[in-house]
Amino acid sequence: MSTMTEGQLKVHTDNIFPIIKKFLYSDHEIFLRELVSNAVDACQKVKTLSVSGEINHDGKKLLVEVIADKSANTLTVRDSGIGMTTEEVEKYINQIAFSGAEEFVEKYKDAQIIGHFGLGFYSAFMVAKQVEIQTLSQRAGATPVHWTCDGSPNFHMGQGNRTTPGTEITLHLADDALEFAEDSRIEGILTKYCKFMPVEIQFGEKSEWVDGEETEENGDKKQIETKVPNIINNTAPLWMKKPADLTDEDYKTFYHELYPMSFDEPLFHIHVNVDYPFNLTGILFFPKMKNNMEVQKNKVQLYSNQVFITDEVKNILPDFLTLLHGVVDSPDIPLNVSRSYLQEDANVKKISSHITKKVADKLQSMYNNDKADYESKWDDIGMFIHYGMLSDDKFYEKAEKFALLKTTTDGYYTAEDLKEKVKDTQKDKKGDIIFLYANNKEEQFTAIQDAAERGWDVVLLDGPLAPHYISKLEQKMTGVRFKRVDADVMDKLIEQEENTASALSDDQKTGITSALKKLIDTKKYSLEFANLSPKDAPFVVTQNEFMRRMKEQSAMGGGGFYGALPDSYNLVANANHPLFGQTVTDNEGQTVLNEMKVKQAIDLALLSKGLLKGEELAKFVKRSLESI
Ligand code: ADP
Repeated sequence: MSTMTEGQLKVHTDNIFPIIKKFLYSDHEIFLRELVSNAVDACQKVKTLSVSGEINHDGKKLLVEVIADKSANTLTVRDSGIGMTTEEVEKYINQIAFSGAEEFVEKYKDAQIIGHFGLGFYSAFMVAKQVEIQTLSQRAGATPVHWTCDGSPNFHMGQGNRTTPGTEITLHLADDALEFAEDSRIEGILTKYCKFMPVEIQFGEKSEWVDGEETEENGDKKQIETKVPNIINNTAPLWMKKPADLTDEDYKTFYHELYPMSFDEPLFHIHVNVDYPFNLTGILFFPKMKNNMEVQKNKVQLYSNQVFITDEVKNILPDFLTLLHGVVDSPDIPLNVSRSYLQEDANVKKISSHITKKVADKLQSMYNNDKADYESKWDDIGMFIHYGMLSDDKFYEKAEKFALLKTTTDGYYTAEDLKEKVKDTQKDKKGDIIFLYANNKEEQFTAIQDAAERGWDVVLLDGPLAPHYISKLEQKMTGVRFKRVDADVMDKLIEQEENTASALSDDQKTGITSALKKLIDTKKYSLEFANLSPKDAPFVVTQNEFMRRMKEQSAMGGGGFYGALPDSYNLVANANHPLFGQTVTDNEGQTVLNEMKVKQAIDLALLSKGLLKGEELAKFVKRSLESI
């Protein structure tokens, strides 16, 4: 092309450039991903077109180079790809890319973009005051083209200077975007978005030691250092390979490639590979779950054809799957749209349910193949499975068969198996099967021990999800109720026909009650009598299951009626304990207790629950010492 073309991009909206610049991406850095992935595409087209014989490629290495020039305030993306003819620049840059950008701006100017292609090439104007293209097509007889545009709707097109095929795009950075001429900034962006793109991307050079060779300098041996190209990416990431060709070690190494800052080893992985009815590849890792679920989240990285899209997978994957780590790559996830739209997208839903199914299948096969190994991992994966069961009914149905309940004696059972095991020993008078549980082995030690003596199993359910999981199981399993092991005195925990044999008359009980009320904090403790064995303790402190759960639930929901209530406990007096046989009445008919002994017995009951504190504890210790 010998003549210079001046042209005007057809602008329908007032001017799309200010919109591109200001509003579209909160993350301006995305322009680089757009330019580099265009360059990568251009290189891949060379491969496809030389195979089909459309072009005759000289066999030169396909490479993308990124060059930041701080002194000139420019950033250049250069590729040895397919290049463009004059007609192609006219068509792809002036018309298609521009109208693409225009349509994109129209459609999404109010949406929160999570970014993908569509805006493409024109996203360069987010950071550049002027953009230049130097390109030469691989097609036979093509002439080089130079295109430049200063961010107004006017562009210039003329004779270019390239002598080898490919494209070079130079951004003259805007004054408020000079950070993009900084090496460290660019390397950071490239590592984030381009780490697994399929064509080598070079960013400058780096030093490397030459293996096995040394020189001598002033008598000191020195290793020889050479400069080698600094290649940003791994062009053949593990998820693109066949699982059959990979070892466990490969997966572990890849995990650290994905998360260089993590020192934890993943527990196991799932390699997903689907090509019908949608395309999806990926590797999901099970990390060791931490009790603080939030820190686990947002580690799954989403790619589209090896181009990093986002690691904010909230609303894209079901919440419980965001606890996993790893990579999901699918060209079928429409990423140039807003988050709210994405949630409703049919492909996204299919992909989510497919991943959910894969995860469940993997866990089931691990459980079937090696129960002991699976049980050894349970503490680390249990919370994830519970979370999945709580949030996804389909997952619940599958997980029922491999979700375990762990007992305080390290037995592991599915809920159904446990039901079968305790169906005779832990049935109450109404015919309900009572699953006893503890959420703190230390605090509930006495109760756990007493339950064990009766041959009962106590399940250990702690962590933030336990209360929800318990409700869920009760709702799903007929005839099963959960009761915390300290919710009642042992005799009443699994209710049988009541023992009515009481050593005390009603009048005596009334008298004792009013005497006891002087010794306890009646706001916190309500008094009750139970007809226990004379050998049982004179007092036991219990916490009503229903009240405790209501309080816990409203605490999690941020307060509410029950949340505002103080903790309340039952102080259960054993009507058959000899201590109460020693009571007398004074000449006004008031019951007189052996205060010293009774107080000591109450304090012991509180102490075993960790409820004796502060001044009361100090008094108790003093009193106890005096009796030595
Ligand atoms: P998209 O990549 O989504 O098609 P872009 O606006 O990024 O949209 O680019 C428009 C078109 O311009 C591309 O489809 C391609 O044909 C052409 N193009 C852009 N960059 C290059 C490049 N580095 N080499 C060759 N062609 C390119």
